Order: sequence, then structure tokens, then C-alpha cells
Amino acid sequence: MLKSPLNRPCLLAQGNLTLGTNCTTDLYMPSTKIAKRIIMAPSRKTLVTGGAGFIGSHLVDRLVADGHEVTVLDNFITGRPANLAHHAKNPKVRLIEQDISDHKLMKDYFKVIDWVFHVAARADIVPSIQEPLGYHSSNVDGTVATLEAARLNDVKRFVYVASSSCYGLPDSFPTTESAPIRTMYPYALTKYLGELQVMHWCQVYKLPAVSLRFFNVYGPRSRTSGTYGAVFGVFLAQKIKGQPYTVVGDGTQTRDFTFVTDVVDALVTAAGSNASGEIFNVGSGNTYSINELVDRLGGEKVYLPKRPGEPDCTFADISKIQKTLGWKPKVSFAEGVKVMLEHLNDWREAPLWTKDSIAEATKDWHRYLGK
Ligand code: UDP
Repeated sequence: MLKSPLNRPCLLAQGNLTLGTNCTTDLYMPSTKIAKRIIMAPSRKTLVTGGAGFIGSHLVDRLVADGHEVTVLDNFITGRPANLAHHAKNPKVRLIEQDISDHKLMKDYFKVIDWVFHVAARADIVPSIQEPLGYHSSNVDGTVATLEAARLNDVKRFVYVASSSCYGLPDSFPTTESAPIRTMYPYALTKYLGELQVMHWCQVYKLPAVSLRFFNVYGPRSRTSGTYGAVFGVFLAQKIKGQPYTVVGDGTQTRDFTFVTDVVDALVTAAGSNASGEIFNVGSGNTYSINELVDRLGGEKVYLPKRPGEPDCTFADISKIQKTLGWKPKVSFAEGVKVMLEHLNDWREAPLWTKDSIAEATKDWHRYLGK
């Protein structure tokens, strides 16, 4: 049984979980690639905050596949033990129930850690408008506690997951890292403040750190419950129930949909590099309309009013990360959507959002961000 350093049996070992239900499939993690990585990469002691969440759990899969040891810190508010159930018997994976904003306990977990991946954060726009203090505590205080724990233990690399929401409504596309910062709501602000802290710890304390600004990440295990959120979860639940897709505006707006294994590859590439004090965009190299997404999923649409503060396009300029780190995305949008459809069952219990329930859920969005 996995135990935390506090000798608290971790949830992973307690639950009645079916192994493999959320496993990475061969389609996007070919076993030949895994074998090759194990031979090539020296084993590291790694720590992933938010490792039971959507992106974090895919990162854990990759680190394990590469032969590394992984300590996961997660408070299980949105992270799910089921996302890591397939590692339950792996002695190289240690799962600890820990809130990152509780700084007093943090530093003990970072002893002899080589690489820290700071993935944990509260996501979503509407709750961030309603609970700015909670978002500050997780995304800003939590980042400072993680940075301090890393610094006090001399970790070798710190990789921060930042958000492209810092660009707000950009002037130009594809958008480069030097574009003006225009945070439109507390989620975007707190993720950007976290990034400033990371760069500050790098500058003042010489903590080797990089920040990766992710654009519209999607993939299996993306959240299936809770508040109104990312479009894939909303549409897949609608598809299962045979209900129309709730398209915002006329659906011609585009997003840089980036598949989860590609962003994980960027995280691991950044950790293995010598880059420090740098910020990199991580995107798919393209941008896709909501109408194209609906066409690929197949089904009817209903239309919702446009939402204030939303960009008509997100599109990362990824030339910096391509040139500096040699990273590039590998999964096409067509392949990524196919994988999502293969995992459609994961959204069977997800809430069904309708035109009316979305209008209710986004009231504060319109109220505070509208003119
Ligand atoms: N979207 C939509 N219907 C929904 C939810 C989202 O048409 O029910 C659109 C939304 O307008 C945006 C895109 O899907 O253009 C991505 O939205 P999401 O909230 O996933 O990401 P973000 O807007 O933060 O980039």
C-alpha cells in the first residue's frame, strides 16, 4: 500500500478503483517509445504538484514511462485518485494528500527531489470571479510555498505550468511570448502572478526555473464534473445524451487546441534542458474553430450569446520553444478528437449543460466582465 510520509494511507490504495479505466492508450503512448525513453533518460527523483489531475496525471504516466521516481502532491479537490489508479502497485510512485498552500508541511516532501513540476492550480473563469481569495490562496500562495520548498531543498529544475489566458484579447496572431499582458479575470491574474513569482525566484535565488504557457489543453481525463468549464467536457456530455452542442457566438471563433501528451512532452523537455528564466508558449501550431470541432464530433447545435472578455482566437507562436528546446507538437487535431471519442464513456457521469443552465452559471461572468 502506498503511504504518505505522515503514514497516512493514500486514497489511491483505499478506493475501489478499476485499474486501467483511465490509462493512457497505445494510440498516444506507443510502448516502443516508452522502451526507448527508459534506455535514454537517467532516472530522476521528480515531484508533481496536482499530479492526480488532468494534466498532472498524464505527466506522471510519462515520468514513470521514462523510468523516473515520482512524488505526487494533490489535495484531491479536483484531482482524482482514479487518474493514478494504474500506478497503485508501483513503488516508484508516491501519492501524498497535501494542499500546496499549506506551506508549513511542504518542504519536507521536496528533500532530494531533482525536478519539480508545478501543475496544481484552481482552474475555470466563473468560480475565480466568485472566489478571488480562494484562487489567490491556491494559485499565488500555493506557488510561493512550492517555490520556497524547492529553493530550500536545492532542487535542480522547477517547471511551472502557466496559462495563455495572460494574453487576454491579443492584438496579433500567432501570439508571441512578448505580447502585452492583459489579464481579464482572477484566474488569469493569479496564474500570471504565479509566473512572476517563478521568474523572481529564478532571478533572486538562482532557482533554475522555466514557465510554459499552455493553450487550450484537451485529452482524456479532462474534468468531467463540477462547474461549467472547458468546451470538450461540455460537448462530449452533450453528445452522450444526444443533446445539441451549446455553441457560443457563431462558432467561428478559434482555439489553439493542444493535446495533453504534447504539453507533457514540453514539460519533460523543459525539465531536461538547461534553459532558465525563460517563458515559452506551448501550442499545437494551429488554431481550430468551434464549428470544426462540432463537425468532427457530429450533431446538432444551439447558439449562446457571446461572452464578454473572450478572445475570438487563441493561437500560440511556438517558434521560441521549437528553436530553443527542439520541442514540437506531434498529435494533430483530427487524431486528438478521435482519441476523445474513443474515451467518450469517461463523460457518461459528467453534468449535462443546456442553454438555460449555462445562462444561469455564467451570470456573474456577464455581470462583471460585460461593459
Ligand atoms: N465554447 C462553446 N460552448 C460552450 C463552451 C465553450 O462554444 O459551451 C467555446 C468558447 O466560446 C471558446 C471555446 O469553446 O471559444 C473554448 O472554450 P473554453 O472555455 O474551453 O476555453 P477558453 O475560452 O478559456 O479558451
